Amino acid sequence: MSKRFASVSVAALLVALSACSAPEEAAVETPVAEDNAVMGTDARDIHFATFTLDTHVDIGADYGTPALDPGEHTHAQVDLPKMVEGGLDAAFFIVYVRQGETTPEGYVEARAAAEEKYAGISRMLANDPDRIALATSSDEVEEIAASGRLVALIGMENAYPLGDSVDDVPMWAERGVRYMSITHFGNNQFGGSSNPNTAAGEPEEDPGLSDLGRELVSALNDNGIIIDVSHVGKTTMMEAIALSRAPVIASHSGARGVYDHARNLDDEQLRAIRDNGGVAQMVAFRRYIGAMPDEVLAGQQALAAELGLDTPEGREAATPEIFADYQAGMADLRAQYGDVDIAVLADHIDHAVEVAGIEHVGIASDFDGGGGVGGWEDASETPAVTAELLARGYTPEQIEMLWSGNVLRVLREVRAAASSGG
Ligand SMILES: [Zn+2]
Repeated sequence: MSKRFASVSVAALLVALSACSAPEEAAVETPVAEDNAVMGTDARDIHFATFTLDTHVDIGADYGTPALDPGEHTHAQVDLPKMVEGGLDAAFFIVYVRQGETTPEGYVEARAAAEEKYAGISRMLANDPDRIALATSSDEVEEIAASGRLVALIGMENAYPLGDSVDDVPMWAERGVRYMSITHFGNNQFGGSSNPNTAAGEPEEDPGLSDLGRELVSALNDNGIIIDVSHVGKTTMMEAIALSRAPVIASHSGARGVYDHARNLDDEQLRAIRDNGGVAQMVAFRRYIGAMPDEVLAGQQALAAELGLDTPEGREAATPEIFADYQAGMADLRAQYGDVDIAVLADHIDHAVEVAGIEHVGIASDFDGGGGVGGWEDASETPAVTAELLARGYTPEQIEMLWSGNVLRVLREVRAAASSGG
């Protein structure tokens, strides 16, 4: 497919560079991305006839301002032109807040950071009401799609900004938040993370849900917000599932049975999600789902340092030319040493389907938050995912379940459970 802009988001690559501290396994031969141009017409037709929903899309600072206007072609992996080009019909846009101190000051800062993200999503919606609209239910998703517009939903990554109570949950529900993860990297006031901050003295072992965490599960149920167990420690996740009276999701995680990374779900977790009626959305995040060649990782560090992109100040000051050089350098490294590509993502989907069943698996990019794999680098390349699934023998009906049907079913059930119980 023709692309007017380089397909690799620099911001995402730089997030990937700094976000993950887990040691990588020894380099192995990994498949190289296939050329999407060979995709058959049938696959494209089926893709564009499928309702597609990506459950995890992060947003940059200044989102919806002239500095980063998703109504235009941008350097971001997701903007409205790329969604249209790639037949990506809907996405959860994310109010993400990094884990900080669980102190009154920390909560004030986190709340402000959440407001900033929410304002960015609101600006996007206000700027382009004829092209994209906010859905707060599965029915609204369908109505907006039928009107010919793209669909935005809102997810919240990390419940940390709620502070030391769950009093703000109804406010976020009112604003349209439809899933909320309990934790991010590092434990918080509600429970344990899949990646505790051991450098700050947090124990390796997940402490499980706190009393406040149990209140959070009830409050999310009562307000029709899906509990998201991505980034959540296994004990905390299992306790949340046991307490929840509605299905949960993992909005963006891989399968540990394919690649052993703390961010991924083991088979017991996948079965727990199945038994709870939930969905595990397999994530297209290179470092979580496959072994990145050491040469690429080392080359990435060197390239970022060489271009002055290895510090926040450097990234702030970088010109579009510097970003373009970075993109070109990364493409060279991957071409030379190998990549984690769309076939690896499909391996995770296959495994999750085998363990949990086709009704309990879905797809997430984590675009603009470090996500992207060879062949699916941004929203414009979304047809390649459908083509890969077709090539593996999934039917169009099954592909639609993976792309949106399963998660829309969960959203319906979570809303119904709220009105019946809360
Ligand atoms: Zn995440």
